[in-house]
Amino acid sequence: MCRHLAYLGPPVTLRSLLYDPPHSLVRQSWAPRDMRGGGTVNVDGFGVGWYPGTGRPGGDDGRGGAPVRYRRAGPIWSDPTLPELAGVTTSGAVLAAVRSATVGMPVQESAAAPFAEGRWLFSHNGVVRGWPDSVVELAGGLPVRDLVTLDAPTDSALLWALVRHRLRAGASLAEAVTTTVRQVAAAAPGSRLNLLLTDGVSVVASVWGHALSVRADDGTALLASEPVDDAPGWREVPDRRWVRAGPDGVHVGELE
Ligand code: GLN
Repeated sequence: MCRHLAYLGPPVTLRSLLYDPPHSLVRQSWAPRDMRGGGTVNVDGFGVGWYPGTGRPGGDDGRGGAPVRYRRAGPIWSDPTLPELAGVTTSGAVLAAVRSATVGMPVQESAAAPFAEGRWLFSHNGVVRGWPDSVVELAGGLPVRDLVTLDAPTDSALLWALVRHRLRAGASLAEAVTTTVRQVAAAAPGSRLNLLLTDGVSVVASVWGHALSVRADDGTALLASEPVDDAPGWREVPDRRWVRAGPDGVHVGELE
């Protein structure tokens, strides 16, 4: 299973999130602690998305606060560019992921999270069981245009299209994530649906079939598949919950 993380708080370097911690995301790509049978290493691509400038809507960066992404199809540890980039790039809102492709799914840059549109960044850790037949009917509710322009022929890309469809219709981050997880879980029992979605101000995650830990204090929140260090304050979110972290603190709700 892929590993992902999201950070909200005072601007920090990408390096301090991706490389510096003892159990950083880069380390998790080759030595994850907890894969639950979903592969062994996370070698099939990676991505990091961050909000430049103030990171706030209508921010001062000339991009309306939209995030920037850096993704590649290979292992994060062998990327020659990211260490330098991460050392000089600071942001107060970051979403990053390392990918272990599900058997049968292509290894290509466009299949690596974060998926993005406008201010949104999205990641999925897990698998849709019975893919693709189990979710054909759900997918049929999407505009044909969305289906013929899926980022990649993967379960994660379809989940993103389902979440994005709701966001475009005005749903909150939490509504988009929780409704999608419930519907896909009903259509494809046994799926692992660990989603991560941010707009740069708040982040919402679902815990469905795999682990998620949260560390939050004084205006800083870090959500990660595996804690990046042994510092006190990490809290593991129980299965079948959703979490929202943002300016109003951390909220945990039930998914069923
Ligand atoms: N099934 C997704 C993919 O192949 C996510 C994989 C994972 O979480 N390991 O891209």
